[in-house]
Amino acid sequence: MAETYTPTIGLEVHVQLRTRTKMFCACALDFGAPPNTRVCPVCLGYPGVLPVMNEEAIRLTVLAGLMIGSTISAYSKFDRKNYFYPDMPKNYQISQYDKPLCEGGTVEIEVNGELKRVGITRIHLEEDVAKNMHFAHASGIDFNRAGYPLMEVVSEPELASPDEAAAFLRALKQMLEYAAISDCNLEQGNMRCDVNCSVRPAGRTTLGAKVEIKNLNTIKGVHAALQYEIARQTAALAAGETLTQETRLWDSDAGVTTSMRTKESAHDYRYFPEPDLMPVVLDAARVEAWRAQLPELPRQRRERFVRDYGIPQYDARVLAADRAVADYYEAAARQSDNPKGVSNWMMSEMLRLLAERDTNIRQIAMKPDALAELVRLVDEKTINVPTAKDVFATLFAQGGSPHQMVKERGLAQVSDVAALEQTVQTAIRENPKSVEDYRKGKKAALQFLVGQVMRLTRGKANPQVARELLTKKLDE
Ligand code: ZN
Ligand code: MN
Repeated sequence: MAETYTPTIGLEVHVQLRTRTKMFCACALDFGAPPNTRVCPVCLGYPGVLPVMNEEAIRLTVLAGLMIGSTISAYSKFDRKNYFYPDMPKNYQISQYDKPLCEGGTVEIEVNGELKRVGITRIHLEEDVAKNMHFAHASGIDFNRAGYPLMEVVSEPELASPDEAAAFLRALKQMLEYAAISDCNLEQGNMRCDVNCSVRPAGRTTLGAKVEIKNLNTIKGVHAALQYEIARQTAALAAGETLTQETRLWDSDAGVTTSMRTKESAHDYRYFPEPDLMPVVLDAARVEAWRAQLPELPRQRRERFVRDYGIPQYDARVLAADRAVADYYEAAARQSDNPKGVSNWMMSEMLRLLAERDTNIRQIAMKPDALAELVRLVDEKTINVPTAKDVFATLFAQGGSPHQMVKERGLAQVSDVAALEQTVQTAIRENPKSVEDYRKGKKAALQFLVGQVMRLTRGKANPQVARELLTKKLDE
C-alpha cells in the first residue's frame, strides 16, 4: 500500500505599512513615482548618515500585534542583518533579530467550513530594500522602495495545505486592511510572502527537510507554488530519494520551482545590534492608548450586522469581508427603513457590477444614500424591480439621485387603477385567443396577458395591479 505524506507549511509575510514617510528618513512613500525620485542620503545608504525612527510604523506594527493577540514587547531593538547585494548599498538591512516588537498570537482561518487557529511566532519591523529591474541589455535599481517600513509576520509551521496557506493570507490581509495598517495591494507588492514547506510520511513526528520558496507576491502564486512543491517532495520521497534543505524560486510562467541555493551556501547574516538607534521602550499606558484605537474586526462586524440590521449570517459574512464594502453597506443601511432590502441589492446588483466592471466600491459614482433611496422607491412601489435594476446600473455608472432620474425619465410605475384600465382593455381586445384560454381554465394565459400590459406600458405597470384588474375584467 502506498504511504501517505503530510505537508507542513509556515509563512513569512512582508507587509508594507501605510505611513506617510519611510522607516528611517523623511522621503515620501509614493508608489509609481519615476525611479529614484523619492530618495535621500539615508535611504540611498550613504556612509555616515543616521537613521531616525518613524513612530507611526511602530504604532501600526503594535496595532497588528494587538489585533492577533500578540504580547507587545516592553523592550525591543533594531539589529543589522548583513549581506551583500545591490538592492542595499550599505550592505546591511536594519531589521529586528532577538527582540521583535510583537511575540505570539493567533490568526483564525476557515477552510471548508472549519475554523482553525494558526499560531504566530513573531512580528518584527524592518526596512524594505530597493527594487532590481532587469531590461534587455542592462539592469537598474530603483531606490524609491528602499526604506519603506516593512512589517514581517512569521507564522508557526501549523498550516497543512495550500488551501490553509491561502486562507491564512486572506485572513491576515482582511485584518490589516480593516485597521488601515497596510493597503495590502498585492499588485503593488505591498504584501510579499516567503513560504516554508516540508513533507514527511504520515505519522512520523520529525519534520522533513525544509524548503523555502522566496518572494511570492500573490495568494494564487503561494497556492500554486505549494501545490507544485508538495507534489514534488512527495514524489521524491516515494521514490526513495533524500531531500535536502534548500531555497527555491517559483517560476509562475512555467509553474515550477527551481533550486536557488542549498544549505551549504546559506547566508550567515551575522546580526548585531544597530548602534545608531535607541531601543524601543513601550510603557503599558502607551500600548493601552493604542489598543483603544483598534477598529472593529471583520468577525465582530459580521456579528453586529446580523444583530443590528437583521440580515442573514451569509449576507453579513460577504458584506463584512471587505472593509470598503462593509462601510458602504452600513452607510446605506443606516439611512434606510429596510436594511435587508439594501443588503439584497448589495449582494446581487452591486457585487455583480463590481466584478463585471472589475472596479472598487470606493471608485463608483453611486453614493450609499442613493442606494437607500432606490430601495425606498421600490418599497413604496413607485418603481418596479426591473426598472429599479436599470436605474441601479445608471447610478452605478454615473451617480445621481434615483428620485430625480425616475421623475425625469417618467419611470414611475403605474399603479393607478384608472390609468391602467384602458391598457387592460386593450390587452384583452388584442388577445382574444388568450382570453378564451384563460376562461377555459388555462392559468398560464393570465401571465401572458399581464406581460402584454407590461409591454404596452413599457414596463411601468405595477404587475400586481395589472393582474388584479385583468382577473376582475375576465371574470366579469
Ligand atoms: Zn530617504
Ligand atoms: Mn524580512
